[in-house]
Amino acid sequence: MSYNSKICRCGASRDIYCSNCSKISMAILLKNGNDDLKYTNARGQKVCPVWYSPLKHNSKPDRDVIEKMLTRFYDSPFKQVTQQVNFYYNNTSNLIFSHTL
Ligand SMILES: [Zn+2]
Repeated sequence: MSYNSKICRCGASRDIYCSNCSKISMAILLKNGNDDLKYTNARGQKVCPVWYSPLKHNSKPDRDVIEKMLTRFYDSPFKQVTQQVNFYYNNTSNLIFSHTL
């Protein structure tokens, strides 16, 4: 998968974000007692929400992408109920940056 591309190339035909083609993913680790805000995965398990960076930002420096995602996060209701957010390279799952609230 090419992360230099600004469009979805995995076949999912996503316009804005893609769980395969976005460069960076952000896992939101919620405080205890917020299971209603968790996502349900394909196996029916509750999992932490994950956001993906906009495809159009794929060629931007990591720091810029992360700052934009954090800004969007701080404007969201998740801010109140989150312990930590972790940023990963979507293709390798390597941790780039961890931010504790
Ligand atoms: Zn894709």
